[in-house]
Amino acid sequence: MAWDFETDPQFQRKLDWAEAFVREEVEPLDLIWPHEQFVPPDPPRRAVLDPLKQRVRDQGLWATHLGPDLGGQGYGQLKLALLNEILGRSSWAPMIFGCQAPDTGNAEIIAHFGTEEQKRRYLRPLLDGELFSSYSMTEPQAGADPTRFTTSAVRDGDDWIINGWKFFSSNAATAAFLIVMVVTDPDVGAYHGMSMFLVPTDTPGVRIERNVGLYGEPLDGGAHALIHYDNVRVADSALLGGAGQAFAIAQTRLGGGRIHHAMRTIGLARSALDMMCERALSRETAGSRLSDKQFVQGYIADSYAQLQQFRLFVLYTAWEIDKYNDYRKVRKDIAAVKVVMPTVLHDIAWRAMQVHGALGVTNEMPFFTMIHGAGVLGLADGPTEVHKGTVAKQVLRDYRPSEDLWPSQWIPKKLEAARAKFADYLEHEVGNQ
Ligand SMILES: Cc1cc2nc3c(=O)[nH]c(=O)nc-3n(C[C@H](O)[C@H](O)[C@H](O)COP(=O)(O)OP(=O)(O)OC[C@H]3O[C@@H](n4cnc5c(N)ncnc54)[C@H](O)[C@@H]3O)c2cc1C
Repeated sequence: MAWDFETDPQFQRKLDWAEAFVREEVEPLDLIWPHEQFVPPDPPRRAVLDPLKQRVRDQGLWATHLGPDLGGQGYGQLKLALLNEILGRSSWAPMIFGCQAPDTGNAEIIAHFGTEEQKRRYLRPLLDGELFSSYSMTEPQAGADPTRFTTSAVRDGDDWIINGWKFFSSNAATAAFLIVMVVTDPDVGAYHGMSMFLVPTDTPGVRIERNVGLYGEPLDGGAHALIHYDNVRVADSALLGGAGQAFAIAQTRLGGGRIHHAMRTIGLARSALDMMCERALSRETAGSRLSDKQFVQGYIADSYAQLQQFRLFVLYTAWEIDKYNDYRKVRKDIAAVKVVMPTVLHDIAWRAMQVHGALGVTNEMPFFTMIHGAGVLGLADGPTEVHKGTVAKQVLRDYRPSEDLWPSQWIPKKLEAARAKFADYLEHEVGNQ
């Protein structure tokens, strides 16, 4: 019997340390530098950040999902999930622990598919937190459907020339390099005709036309770049993992990225539930505390149940990734986790907001940011609808159509079969009556 819901005591001590460290040392950064996680730090800021990162390293919690050869502990996804649910409530914590999106996903694919030279040039400094990266896949005319991507790279001697537009390349403005997904062979279709290139952001012809902001951010004051790749020349050595492999690589990257978002979402949703409960116990109206009102009890119970279901599903999926070491085998559950993630965060944050009354909708509480974040989670790394399609297709693989007009569970048919099975007994029974 191998099922086990316990965390080993040694790792639990590390989690306890992380819990206190994030609360006392990292969460204050969310307030003083709320939007600057991906801005390369100047020396005074490094004087604050570097010692915090060092303390994480001293605890052996830096980039825990990576193997020792890459500076991590090889803890795998399950332990990362337990850690990430602590980090998820702080926007700075993933950075301080070396596991922030989109860099983790980008690091993972360079680790898997990169040449030694690519690892030396990009992976090491990325893992050391020395530089940032951006993933440049979505195009203005096409996001969810990669078969509609048109940005291309064509051969020119030993080089490639990239032309086209990319949209929503997060953090491109502060990234040192871009991982660009382009069409290299239009004749064989998107799944085998696209490739990925590692392109330094300062390569001539890489032009950020706009930095699109999310709701609440100023126009052109955001982090999601519209990029024009205008005759960008790169050497063959910029190719990641071989020509035609982009789609397979993207699955690795996006699979990891999606589950990491889910791990952090547990932490965020839990913090909303914590605030909801505190408020319910603190506020009195119409003769009793909010916690005594049945509607509010319903909010709390529904939120707790939703969070527990989600958390166990995420932990199980992380366990599966460690077990199979192959994202393709866990595709169904990663997609299903991705589908429920926005709803869980939205619902819990919405109820917490409601329980706080007017204060809940102000910018003095974080609920609307969370609800907006839930909207983002339903789009980034693919829209919910597409993931539902993936789940359904994967689920349906285990089923076969009925062999005749009636469903296999149609009771008259089953009854007939049951009667045939026990015909001798039934005959005997009737004979005795
Ligand atoms: C905050 C944020 C960060 C992002 N970061 C990056 C990044 O770093 N790099 C990058 O390359 N991209 C990034 N993206 C882009 C993201 O991957 C795309 O937004 C996503 O894939 C959807 O593409 P789209 O926006 O073009 O929507 P579309 O593909 O136009 O889809 C629009 C809507 O149509 C519906 N729809 C689409 N397809 C189907 C279908 N098959 N079945 C049913 N309904 C469907 C859905 O309702 C969907 O929301 C980011 C997005 C956000 C919001």
